[in-house]
Amino acid sequence: MKVITRFAPSPTGRIHVGNIRTALHNWLYARQQGGRFLLRIDDTDRERSEERFVEAIRDDLRWLGLNWDGEERQSARFDAYEARFEALRAAGRVYPCYETPQELDLKRKIQLGRGLPPVYDRSALQLTDTDRERLEGEGVRPHWRFKLDHAAPIAWHDLIRGDQSFDPGLMSDPVVRRADGSWLYLLPSVIDDIDMGVTHVVRGEDHVSNTATQVQMFGALGSSPPAFAHEALLTGAEGKLSKRAGATDVDHWRGTGIEPLALAAKLARIGTSLPVEPAASMQRLIEAFDFATFGRAPARFDEAELAKLNAQTIHLLSFDQVRERLPNGMDARAWEAVKPNLETVAEAADWWQVIGGTISSSVAEGDREFVLAARDVAGEMDWSADPWHALTGQLKERTGRKGKPLFLPLRRALTGRDHGPDMAALLPLIGRERALERLAAAANG
Ligand code: GLU
Repeated sequence: MKVITRFAPSPTGRIHVGNIRTALHNWLYARQQGGRFLLRIDDTDRERSEERFVEAIRDDLRWLGLNWDGEERQSARFDAYEARFEALRAAGRVYPCYETPQELDLKRKIQLGRGLPPVYDRSALQLTDTDRERLEGEGVRPHWRFKLDHAAPIAWHDLIRGDQSFDPGLMSDPVVRRADGSWLYLLPSVIDDIDMGVTHVVRGEDHVSNTATQVQMFGALGSSPPAFAHEALLTGAEGKLSKRAGATDVDHWRGTGIEPLALAAKLARIGTSLPVEPAASMQRLIEAFDFATFGRAPARFDEAELAKLNAQTIHLLSFDQVRERLPNGMDARAWEAVKPNLETVAEAADWWQVIGGTISSSVAEGDREFVLAARDVAGEMDWSADPWHALTGQLKERTGRKGKPLFLPLRRALTGRDHGPDMAALLPLIGRERALERLAAAANG
């Protein structure tokens, strides 16, 4: 059996970190199994769906490195839904209902007041043909419910939650189609999963009770249901992850220098028993992916931890992985020299400027003579092997300085900064000419 997974976002807004996590898990599993990963745009809601959000979803997936093997759109499949709907109607598995939202609300309140579960009472099934004709004659359009089979519990083995069992007698027959003919998500999703051969539905646990009704829809349409994996939801560092909080949009990470690999490493592992650790490539994440490692407790997403993981990820990136994002002329040697100091790849440009651009460097009054001596040593020493150790070794002997008083004025004079990458790696890149100029300039104030 070839594994087929899908990511099925509704294009009604930017996707946030919780959605992209689900996408990632579907992708990781498909790639691990040599299967297919589909992008399905759930755009049955024509009013709220927007093309710019479809574009943004594609962009976000591409940015994260989640390529997809096929793209489908629910809005292009209304004929397929209509045909299956007719079949279900003929079989008596969907039925028309005429209650107004107010009536339904009132019924629920009465049930709750009596301590009963607010389950739809199926009174529409009591209507006669004459009742229906009269209602339709009055211009009332029906909405449609799927009739759950109460004969046996609905059960499946969830790849994350284990054995699940629901009593259909305690569930309302779900509305699958509105009075204006538009579709709710439940039935089209099942029809798509059947037609597209989806083998694994991986999604948030907020869908568990939907799944119970969908399991019966698969059966009613003559198919066996796919495997399900419902993952615990993501929470923010301080509680609920809000859809509206801009800071959780994928877009936001892209703008703040977060590496796609860092976000992927984080989202692949939080909420699982596997360690959250930096990954140099997706391959590691693909290999280790395992539903059995997913926990049942909500996963906590902490932005500060992501920043840390981002820096660690950058320290693993090879020159080839970043070269297009580096300033012109910056080569592998320079990248290797500066990357241990970076929190974002964009900061490499600052260090490139420190290496080869103009800097303003000055040292304390009391260090001027020392820096002048450094200039003399640097002018005479051998630059070919390890100039930094040659310079500091000779200066130590000549001046008796060691530790910070030895290193700091040199770093300041040569880079204009108090902190930065290892000077042994930087100095050869700065080079003899520039180093001599900078030492002289700093010594002269
Ligand atoms: N469009 C649905 C959602 O975003 C898809 C759920 C599913 O994966 O089936 O919640």
